[in-house]
Amino acid sequence: MSCKYCKNGATCRGMCPKHYMRWVRHGDPHMVKRPSHPVRIVLPVGEIVDKYQAGLSLKDLAYDYYCSHMTIRKRLVAAGVQLRRSGRPRDPARP
Ligand SMILES: [Zn+2]
Repeated sequence: MSCKYCKNGATCRGMCPKHYMRWVRHGDPHMVKRPSHPVRIVLPVGEIVDKYQAGLSLKDLAYDYYCSHMTIRKRLVAAGVQLRRSGRPRDPARP
């Protein structure tokens, strides 16, 4: 008999040890625990700061460096960069 959720041999309740432990711990054999320490990717912060100050947006930079705009944002803040307002610049003619 094999596991209901994968091809491994089932040892208990029709599940392999991996899926059984997930079921015991989380009540869901499909639960996958997220790593508690997110992998901090290495980014060339100096380069990102230069590009941001040259006018690239957080989203442009995120795309260039294969990470989220929040990661870019955090790195810029950590580097002491004053962030621009997000979105379209306000039209001073219209309040
Ligand atoms: Zn399994």
